[in-house]
Amino acid sequence: PMEYAGKDPELWNSIHKEEERQKHTIELIASENIVSDAVREAQGSVLTNKYAEGYPNKRYYGGCQYIDEVEERAIDYAKQLFDAKFANVQPHSGSQANMAVYQALLKPGDKILGMGMDSGGHLTHGAKVNFSGKAYHSFSYGLNPETEELDFDQILQDAKEVQPQLIVAGASAYSRIIDWEKFREIADEVGAYLMVDMAHIAGLVATGYHPNPVPIADVVTTTTHKTLRGPRGGMILTNNPDIAKKINSALFPGIQGGPLEHVIAGKAQAFYEDLRPQFKTWAGQVVTNAAAMADEFTKSDSIRVVSGGTDNHLLNLDITNTGLTGKDAQNLLDSVMITTNKESIPNDQRSPFITSGLRIGTPAITSRGFKEDDARQVARLIIKALNNSDNDDILEEVKADVRALTDKYPID
Ligand code: PLP
Repeated sequence: PMEYAGKDPELWNSIHKEEERQKHTIELIASENIVSDAVREAQGSVLTNKYAEGYPNKRYYGGCQYIDEVEERAIDYAKQLFDAKFANVQPHSGSQANMAVYQALLKPGDKILGMGMDSGGHLTHGAKVNFSGKAYHSFSYGLNPETEELDFDQILQDAKEVQPQLIVAGASAYSRIIDWEKFREIADEVGAYLMVDMAHIAGLVATGYHPNPVPIADVVTTTTHKTLRGPRGGMILTNNPDIAKKINSALFPGIQGGPLEHVIAGKAQAFYEDLRPQFKTWAGQVVTNAAAMADEFTKSDSIRVVSGGTDNHLLNLDITNTGLTGKDAQNLLDSVMITTNKESIPNDQRSPFITSGLRIGTPAITSRGFKEDDARQVARLIIKALNNSDNDDILEEVKADVRALTDKYPID
């Protein structure tokens, strides 16, 4: 065999430093998780060497017999997890899953109505800086300013005004159960397709901790790397055979070339894990941990939980009363080895680059083994840090407590 140059020492140094960072930080980014060794092995396998344009049994290249077995396995597991008739596991990312749906069901310039980014929606739900807001005529709905929850009377009114061809339900930073039936009624009322993007909550849907949109929406998209605990990637589900056909050709050859079969193998391995009872236990713990953190924050004087609590894996915090911006708080928490992200609160007076809030999620700490008491302690450490941002001694104490927690639950 030909000789390779060996490992690039500087590259591997960076990778090892990232590994150490993950080991010694409390990871609270709601869209992140920690995958199993088997998922990583699948992604690092020889499947990365193979081109497989097309779909199982309809490939453009030879030698795809085993690749077909892998992709069919991922599709079968996905259908089982969500009780779906059709699954496309090829999207390279959640954004590409959404792009494929729009391409399949809309013409450029058609109208879409999605949740505004400032209310917790995703870029691909029609943000003006994104393809979804450039190729399509996009409109957004928000939250009820009092309850900070979805307001279906208002969304119906918005939909009647806009008359969209497609409504997007689903979010990146919304902590409440989403009533898919209500969205269905609104979509039917205005004759729009309903697309649900369940990227954040898919693992909760698969385990019954959130209602399943697949029987209700025309089409459902998700990422596979968040609460599904799989490799980075996307997926599209539907029960409608005509939509399924359109989506297949919209994705390939419409917007992608060769699928990442090593990643699809990682998806199959993750779904295999997701179908086991242990995953349901994990998902229950994710929800319990988030509720416990919300409870601790609610007890504090300086931090307010947006919408008053959480039903899922994440919570949004209004930190206005700490005197810190979201950006400052994120940096401060980084310095004590707690990783979060700044997040706009409803009606935020600050820009999305600064914000008055933080988003906190429990998937990664739960994968590490944190239980309810640990989650409560993490919330108390965050409160302590944010209330003492000028006190280096106290921040050192917080850092030491973080270290003790990450040592208690090692990642190997
Ligand atoms: N949809 C939602 C609701 C998301 O939160 C995200 C990612 O944060 C995506 C889609 C996009 O996924 P990706 O980053 O894989 O493109």
